[in-house]
Amino acid sequence: MMEIKTVFKKFAKEFHGEVILPEDDQYNASRQLWNGLYDKYPAAVARCESPHDVIVAVNFARENDIVISVKSGGHDYAGNSVCNDGLVIDLSPMNKIEVDENQRTARVEGGATVGQFDAEAQKYKLATTTGTVSSIGIGGLALGGGSGYLSRMFGMTLDNVLSVDIVTADGNFVTANEKENEDLFWAVRGGGGNFGIVTSFKFQLHEVGPEVLSFQAYFTFEDSRQLLRFYREFMKKAPDELYCYVFFLNVPPVEPFPAEHHGKTTCAFIACHTGDPEKGRAELQPLKEFGNPFLSFLQPMEYTAIQKSFDAGMPKGLRWFTKAHYLDKLSDTAIETLIEYTKQLPGAFTVAYLEPMGGEVNRIDPAATAFPHRKTAYSVHIFPGWDDPSKDGENIKWAKEFYQAMHKEAAGGVYVNLLSHDEKERVKAAYGENYDRLAEVKKKWDPGNFFRMNHNISPKG
Ligand SMILES: Cc1cc2nc3c(=O)[nH]c(=O)nc-3n(C[C@H](O)[C@H](O)[C@H](O)COP(=O)(O)OP(=O)(O)OC[C@H]3O[C@@H](n4cnc5c(N)ncnc54)[C@H](O)[C@@H]3O)c2cc1C
Repeated sequence: MMEIKTVFKKFAKEFHGEVILPEDDQYNASRQLWNGLYDKYPAAVARCESPHDVIVAVNFARENDIVISVKSGGHDYAGNSVCNDGLVIDLSPMNKIEVDENQRTARVEGGATVGQFDAEAQKYKLATTTGTVSSIGIGGLALGGGSGYLSRMFGMTLDNVLSVDIVTADGNFVTANEKENEDLFWAVRGGGGNFGIVTSFKFQLHEVGPEVLSFQAYFTFEDSRQLLRFYREFMKKAPDELYCYVFFLNVPPVEPFPAEHHGKTTCAFIACHTGDPEKGRAELQPLKEFGNPFLSFLQPMEYTAIQKSFDAGMPKGLRWFTKAHYLDKLSDTAIETLIEYTKQLPGAFTVAYLEPMGGEVNRIDPAATAFPHRKTAYSVHIFPGWDDPSKDGENIKWAKEFYQAMHKEAAGGVYVNLLSHDEKERVKAAYGENYDRLAEVKKKWDPGNFFRMNHNISPKG
């Protein structure tokens, strides 16, 4: 058998993009993920420049029985987008975005990021739902779900996908939408990277911004119980334009946070109103009047700026772990559990937060796309972030204990994009009632389970 290095050198001749091998200077940078917890050593990283490159990479790996992983923005919490000893199909050079202002649609290549997409669409005062950190890849986001400030108005990112171009396991390049390959189109909207490599998405856009209203208010930890009870009632009546997280975090040691609060746990409202500004001020007023925050502001902000406002708190390269639940309601017991586990956050960057569902997300039939979680009220995300590897144990233990304590209050499912590397037993719960139909589509389009470095749907069911 040919030596692996020789095999990859041969591959590099047919492939137009860059092929990075372990001896290359860029190798270490090319194998890094956003989450520093993962340290994997692929045999090669193929930086694709076009669908041609993706097809060459897929055919090469399949013919040589080489394991592949697919990387877009590299934010996968489970670290699945880089593999050991195999070929990383890196889509990040494929980040072109073309907006059709008249049709209010955008064609977005499979390696573009949220920040790139938001910036291009906002040139035309348009946007669609994306995530709230600008370096997230549209690829992983849209294929698994995609929640953010616009999701209560326009549904998840995947609800705004009109069509995809995709390279399948046999190396074919196909289009999937409501009229062509409908089964594949249904499955890629929630089934993750199980069915092929999406080289481009066509999205529905909506009029947004360029300014929206941003509201934030930070409270001492002692106010948490009152705050959560107030939030529970407030969100029941909140309009679709209003999106409000409750965050627990350590107060960052920077202005404008008052020095006496630095490093202490705070609970906070972090909200955005994307509708008419006057209506927005009125609808945010009850949040503004709640309690005695030590820092609070309500101000117009560019939509592209609010979309980047979490970036500094979630830097690349730190160590992160994740546990998540959906909640049908925010019970008193759930509130007490949140308070019990957040009073001492283990890592400097650790956060735990409640994200609202509702609005358009909940109006869509659970069987309309592969994303099944249409009846839940909140997603709770337990998210320790730290930098010292010797603290891995205590951070991961905290998250697991918190998760376990919350379990009996949870709805049973989980957002596939928030699964961690050690949650194989929860994968079926992530696809929920759509799992069997997804397995049928997988059997048709990827019977050999070529695309398996993901939250895997077995072609055997
Ligand atoms: C800091 C941070 C903030 C986040 N905030 C949000 C948020 O606000 N809302 C939200 O909904 N989620 C959020 N997430 C979760 C996010 O949706 C997932 O981590 C998502 O998978 C990231 O996509 P990516 O392309 O960056 O990931 P990658 O690691 O590049 O890819 C993840 C997986 O998706 C598949 N994949 C990616 N691109 C393609 C493609 N083009 N074709 C086929 N398969 C592909 C592959 O299986 C790959 O393993 C956040 C994650 C992080 C780390």
